[in-house]
Amino acid sequence: MPCRSAMKIEMSRFKYRVGLGFDFHPFAEGRELVLGGVKIPDIEGLSGHSDADALTHAVIDALLGAAGLNDIGCMFPDTDPSYKGISSLLLLERVYERVRDRGYSVGNVDIVVIADAPRLQPHAEAIRANIARTLHITADDVAVKATTMEGKGVIGRKEGVAVQAVALLHRAD
Ligand code: MG
Repeated sequence: MPCRSAMKIEMSRFKYRVGLGFDFHPFAEGRELVLGGVKIPDIEGLSGHSDADALTHAVIDALLGAAGLNDIGCMFPDTDPSYKGISSLLLLERVYERVRDRGYSVGNVDIVVIADAPRLQPHAEAIRANIARTLHITADDVAVKATTMEGKGVIGRKEGVAVQAVALLHRAD
């Protein structure tokens, strides 16, 4: 899909805007698992050009959608060697700056991780703290929920991790 140009800021008449993000990455040998900037031990990581942090990627796409900006693949193309292995929290920081440039702040973010492995609960608080710090909101404004596919399909076979996120932006005026 070709990259469209970003929505003109004057088209943004609304005080509140929502955005939706989704991402999936397959597991790959020899990689470290990073979700929400948290390194999760004792499990193989996800394949991808950056650190393959599917959780942070879903949050990025939710913010970009809400702000009327291009999606993550257009903003940070995987053909660009400067993004190889980069921490996705750094990409989220850049997206936050773009959102602020457009006159918006982040209200809250709600995240669902869909994975039969790993168990996310022990890491949820650290993930919330990372996302909240990067977006200049409190951990109360970031929800991280986890569910499984009950052993079914590609996620049930523990071949990958999917993440959905929604974000609410509000204008300061
Ligand atoms: Mg991704």
